[in-house]
Amino acid sequence: MKYKRILLKLSGEALMGDQQYGIDPQRLEQYAQEIKKVVDQGLELAIVIGGGNIFRGMQADRIGIDRVQGDHMGMLATVINGMALQSALEGLGVYTRLLSGIQMDKVCEPYIRRRAVRHLEKGRVVIFGAGTGNPFFTTDSAASLRAIEIEADVVLKGTRVDGIYTADPEKDPNAEKMDALSFDEVMARNLKVMDMTAFTLCQENGLPIIVFDMNKADNLRKLVEGENIGTVVS
Ligand code: UDP
Repeated sequence: MKYKRILLKLSGEALMGDQQYGIDPQRLEQYAQEIKKVVDQGLELAIVIGGGNIFRGMQADRIGIDRVQGDHMGMLATVINGMALQSALEGLGVYTRLLSGIQMDKVCEPYIRRRAVRHLEKGRVVIFGAGTGNPFFTTDSAASLRAIEIEADVVLKGTRVDGIYTADPEKDPNAEKMDALSFDEVMARNLKVMDMTAFTLCQENGLPIIVFDMNKADNLRKLVEGENIGTVVS
């Protein structure tokens, strides 16, 4: 395998499947299967999951809720998704631990870096819930931060597109996919890979990002085995 320890970022939205809200059981099962394939090969895997399928802090204003409250609601949504993913993985016999950036000791462990690393060393999948634990951040930032903290080799950003394009492939038919880019190129071309906070954290710490299509069977396995899938930013 090309990597020893990776951090996989999954958006909450991806968990919706074709639904408008919530968790699609088929998609959840599919992700759990894909994850099991790489864990069975001995890869140390940590996951940050988003909450956009349930609530985003940005939506709070529309319903008369202030931003900080909304962000906390969004972070709780990521814990709900984390619990669902944990159950799906355990259903396949994969050992997992859910560690939360906001303490809620009835349902998961608090995030403690050393503990996360120990779980990974023991072959458990570590799911990081509640993002960074702070408002005004995103789960992309949580993914970068946690990846740096646990010294992951790479952040894999699982999306529904197969990499980074010259323009939005869902809007522009002339958009072309790029296989590899430097951090500086991404900045110069103003390409959207992650939000700026998340992106800068990776850049400053020399942590490569790979954007890939998580919905395609075996992509995750192929990626960790070293196949050129998606777009690498390094
Ligand atoms: N959030 C936050 N701090 C964090 C991570 C997330 O406040 O460190 C909140 C924020 O409101 C965000 C929501 O949780 O909108 C859900 O996360 P995100 O939008 O990143 O989920 P995704 O787009 O990946 O589904």
